[in-house]
Order: sequence, then structure tokens, then C-alpha cells
Amino acid sequence: MTASQQLQARRTSAVARGVSTRGIYAVRAENAELWDVDGKRYLDFASGIAVNNTGHRHPVVMAAVAEQAQAFTHTCFNVAPFEGYLALAEELNRIVPGDFEKKTMLVTTGAEAVENAIKMARAFTGRSGIIAFSGAFHGRTLMGMALTGKVVPYKKGFGPMPPEVVHAPFPNAFHGVSEAESLASIERMFASNIDPERVAAIIVEPVQGEGGFNIAPYGWLRALRAICDKHGILLISDEIQAGMGRTGTMFGIQHAGVIPDLVTMAKGLAGGFPLSAVTGRAEIVDAPLVGGLGGTYAGNPIAVAAANAVLQVIKQEDLCARATEIGNRIRPFLENLALRQGMEPIGNVRGLGAMNAFELVKNRETNDGDAPLTNAIVAEAEARGLILLSCGTRANVIRLLPPLTIPFAQLDEALGILEASIEAAIQKTAV
Ligand code: PMP
Repeated sequence: MTASQQLQARRTSAVARGVSTRGIYAVRAENAELWDVDGKRYLDFASGIAVNNTGHRHPVVMAAVAEQAQAFTHTCFNVAPFEGYLALAEELNRIVPGDFEKKTMLVTTGAEAVENAIKMARAFTGRSGIIAFSGAFHGRTLMGMALTGKVVPYKKGFGPMPPEVVHAPFPNAFHGVSEAESLASIERMFASNIDPERVAAIIVEPVQGEGGFNIAPYGWLRALRAICDKHGILLISDEIQAGMGRTGTMFGIQHAGVIPDLVTMAKGLAGGFPLSAVTGRAEIVDAPLVGGLGGTYAGNPIAVAAANAVLQVIKQEDLCARATEIGNRIRPFLENLALRQGMEPIGNVRGLGAMNAFELVKNRETNDGDAPLTNAIVAEAEARGLILLSCGTRANVIRLLPPLTIPFAQLDEALGILEASIEAAIQKTAV
């Protein structure tokens, strides 16, 4: 039995089944590389699910964390506030889109940022309804789960969901849902399901993450903004996966030129430390009463120090431009691969900056998703030393999330492994 297998056996008997795990037991990681307990090296195209945009253990982030650890590690911001939190809030207020006064609150996880954005929207508008989209992922807390647009495995057995959370179809040309249809369904919803004057907010991912790296069409995002403006509804951009430079701009919604009222951030914000934020219009962020927001660990000093360093690194290393360059290397590679004889299962290639994916289908005409082939590719890549993640409402999408700091030699190495893994998986599943 290998060390990994031994740990996997202990995991099976000690840890909840619902927490899904792979068999990669980490002992060390550096930038885009990770080593497991058996000494095997991996190139990490998961980045801890879009967290390590600045790579594992970026030296600037590590130095900031070490310095903060020497000073204090926890005070609770409600009890003894500290300057780093203020500096981070000021910087987020500056970089989040919108030429108006902004304010920020910090919490710990993505789901918590979503919860707080909804609380602010409800407190500000005095309305309760929320519109989210099919295929959306907004977290695993009660409201995050309710907003999430996929039942299995996220909602199954966990109901009832909070009332007045409704879902409209997310436009997806590849899956046959047009922008017009999506917008018409919102209008139908207003006619038959929920009075728009009861709707506090529309929450949208500018690029759906867990849902399959579906890029929200820019015109559709602008139309959502117009619907919000017409009915006094707030627009929340959930940038938890698409933000912090991943798509080639600091925030995904900037591609569409749309100004949201609130933005949620997490993952890439603190380079591997648990931290999330809600930033937006000052009057909305200030709507909840004193004491209505917060949490014991909200804005942990170590995570805040890491985030201040991450924002500095993104700027200094021009990681938004680097995200674009990474995408310009990955997308042509995948598109050329899809053209090759035998590569018909690659049904669609898409991406924005360094948020890229390809969809696996049984047949390009009928576009049936091929989840078994997707799993086989992930397994083949893992065996060859490349960590991949699948996603998508049909579990047939492979997403590529390398750190934005990955050396190009390692990016090329990873794409070579990816090609070999796709070939091997197609061959094996065809037999
Ligand atoms: N929103 C989006 C868009 C996400 O991708 C995620 C995490 N995958 C979340 C919210 C929830 O974040 P967390 O897991 O940190 O609670």
C-alpha cells in the first residue's frame, strides 16, 4: 500500500462521505507545482479551485504572512480593529468598478460573502426576492445553496429552501438557450411568479464557475443591468471564481462594461488564506444596522495581510495581462486539438483570460454530455502528474485553472500531458 492509499483508507473511515476528496495527499507546494506523500510531482491546474492565482506560497505573500504572525494572529475586528483591514477595504473600494463612493466588509468564505451581499440588498431595498440563474453556484450555506442552480449534489436532501429565491435560465448558445429567451423568461417570471417590486437583487456570475465556465454574454449582462435599473433591483456580481485577475481583467464583469451595485470576492483574494469580501455602493453596504454584520473570524489578520500582498503582486507582476497571455496559449492549443481526427469528443472550447474549459460530448450533432470520458481524462491526467478539475451541470466540462504565475515551460509541459491524457482516455473509453 502506498502512503497515499493508507491515508485514503483513514480518510474513508474518519471523514464525512459528503466531503468529496481526490487521492492526492499533499505534503508541499510551490507556485504551480505540488508534491504528494509518495513524492510524486504534479502540475496544479486546479489551484485549490481558483484560489492560488498568485501560485502556491508566493514569496511576497509568505513574507507578509510571516510578518503578521509575529505581531498578532487574531483579535476579532469587532473587538480590536487593525490597520491592515482598513487598507484592504480602501484598496477594494478603489479597484471595484463604479465611479461612486464604495465600502467593504470582510468575511471568511465565498458563501459567507454571498450571504452578506444578500443581507445588504434586502436591508437596503426592504425587499426579499432574489433572482439567480440555472447552473449558478453561490455556495453551500442555506442561502448560497438556495441560490445555486443545481440540485444534485448541492441541494438534495437539504430543503426546504428559503422562499422567494427564483431561477431564470442562464443563456448558453452551445446548450441552445438564447439571450432573448433568458431575458423573456425573467419577464414571464415577473408576470407569473414574483412582482419585480419584491425583488431585492439579481445575482450573477460573469463567468459561471462550477456550472461549466459559461461566459455571460456581454449584451445580456447589460440587459440585466437595464432590468435592474427599471425596477429598482440591485445587481450583484459574484466574482468569487472569475475575479482577482483570472479572466484578464480584475473582475469578470469589467469585460461587459457593466457596473454592479455589489461585488462578492473570495478565492484568489488572499492567495490561499480564507478571506472573502463584499464591496459596493456605500449606502447599500451601510444599510444593515450596527452589529448586523460581522463574525468572529471575519477579516482574519493573517488572511488580510495575505490579501494586501496579493493585490500588490497582481499589480506588480501585471497578472491580468498574464491571464490574457495564458488564455492566448491555451485556447488555440485546445481549438487545434479539437480539429484533429479522433478528437470529435471535444465538442466546445471556451474561455476568458486564464479561465478556460472544454466540453466533452458523445456526439457533436446531438451534443450529449460525456461525463465518463470527462472523469477518464481527469484520471489519466492525474496519473501523469497533472491536476485537473471537472465542472458543468452535466459534469462533462474540464476546466483549466493554472496559477497566473505559472512559468510558460510548465504551462507547455501541462498542455502536453493534457493532450496525452485526452488521447489515452478516448482510446480506453472507445474500447
Ligand atoms: N460563488 C462562486 C462563484 C463560487 O465559485 C464559489 C466556490 N466554488 C462560491 C461562491 C462559494 O465559495 P466558498 O466555497 O468559499 O464558500
